Amino acid sequence: MSPVEILSALNPLDHFISSNFQKLPGNSDASFDPVIQDLSALIDNRLDDDKIFSCLPPLFRGHPEIHLRKGIIDAAMRAGANEVDAERAFFVADLSQVYRQHERWMKNLPEITPHYAIKCNPDPYVIRLLAALGAGFDCASNGEISQVLSIGGVDPSRIIFANPCKATSFVRSAARAGVNTMTFDNADELYKIARAHPGAKLIVRILADDSKSICRFGIKFGAPLEVVPSLLSKAKELGLDVIGVSFHVGSGCYDPAIYGDAIRRARDVFIMGSQVGYQFSLLDVGGGFEDARFEAAASVLVDAINQYFPDRKGIRLIAEPGRFYVSRAFNYINDGVYGAFNCIMFDHQTVNPYVLSLDGSFHISPSEPLSLCSVWGPTCDSIDCVCKAVELPEALQIGDWLGFDNMGAYTICAASQFNGFKFSNVIYTTSKGGGDEARRVLCNFAAKGYGHGAGPY
Ligand SMILES: *Cc1c(COP(=O)(O)O)cnc(C)c1O
Repeated sequence: MSPVEILSALNPLDHFISSNFQKLPGNSDASFDPVIQDLSALIDNRLDDDKIFSCLPPLFRGHPEIHLRKGIIDAAMRAGANEVDAERAFFVADLSQVYRQHERWMKNLPEITPHYAIKCNPDPYVIRLLAALGAGFDCASNGEISQVLSIGGVDPSRIIFANPCKATSFVRSAARAGVNTMTFDNADELYKIARAHPGAKLIVRILADDSKSICRFGIKFGAPLEVVPSLLSKAKELGLDVIGVSFHVGSGCYDPAIYGDAIRRARDVFIMGSQVGYQFSLLDVGGGFEDARFEAAASVLVDAINQYFPDRKGIRLIAEPGRFYVSRAFNYINDGVYGAFNCIMFDHQTVNPYVLSLDGSFHISPSEPLSLCSVWGPTCDSIDCVCKAVELPEALQIGDWLGFDNMGAYTICAASQFNGFKFSNVIYTTSKGGGDEARRVLCNFAAKGYGHGAGPY
């Protein structure tokens, strides 16, 4: 995305809003309200199936930008009425995008069942949609397991407890919940599991080369191949059932060739397993899939699997994608690094703002003079810098809004409320290209009685 992206008029409504919106600064123009009401009527009463799940906010229709703009107009009205927190930041989530990513996954990796890594964005709609689409889930804690199971319709066998270092109490509660598949990468974990869940189906997580990823995991997770034989012998000695191998190339992998090397290592570990007396039946290729390089990574994976596992009858293939599913599905406005922009610190991301409204209008001329700016979050901390240097229109005024794309992965989930700033709201929509399908899938899920439990939403 270019630093300043100019929004095109998406539908005739926009012109309508904009010509009236320009009168906004005082917010006292009486002609403003009827227009907003028209717009609200159009957007809010679209169809009566917006309320799919009783415990969740409605699922609207329409392009996310329509909802960004509506949110801005709402904020302007609330600010006009001197409401507290009127300018609070918000997300717009487009569930069609999640649906399209799933189609893309199934097209490129039809043999590999995705288990969505919910830490990436434990959004209640995203979880419901992926559950309804038949995906599995990668959970790392007791809380994540309950969150998935509480929605209903997900058998515990669809969950992999992919944290190789779990509290004993978590292992015990996984056993109670019927979650049997779990990873390990050290002998202490084997002792814990032998005590707390001896019937578990174990996956040995091996170290992969993570040097080509934005967030490296190898320093914390993954058994080096040299120690795997002794780990497997220990598991055998403890009477545990090891069923397969997993790896994670690191999150945000920018060199797809790495997946090939990891598959070769996994094949070596299948051989080590058979030497100890295990016949492995599961290969878990982890996460790390970047939206922009997904097809390349998928093609490396497919080739490597064909090369190293040519005869794979009886081997189930799974993966643990996180950011792939959600990064592009969320747009976002107005926050700092303690909030949703924690992704700058924790996930090493760079974000680019674009102008959503300029001097009260949604129409920004491409010839608008720009100047070099830095963008700061709302807290009083000087590390709270969102963009160090970016060109933005000189004419930006108080009350104008900046937008940020690709805010779906590792954002909301790790936000804090430091300095008294609240978490942001999410407005849900489905747009063209998968929108109707996503709604149908969710409605069927709801009609079966699933997804209504309040859960820890
Ligand atoms: C975080 C994590 C993932 C997801 O990684 P992405 O890069 O978001 O795909 C998958 N598996 C495990 C074990 C993780 O910790």
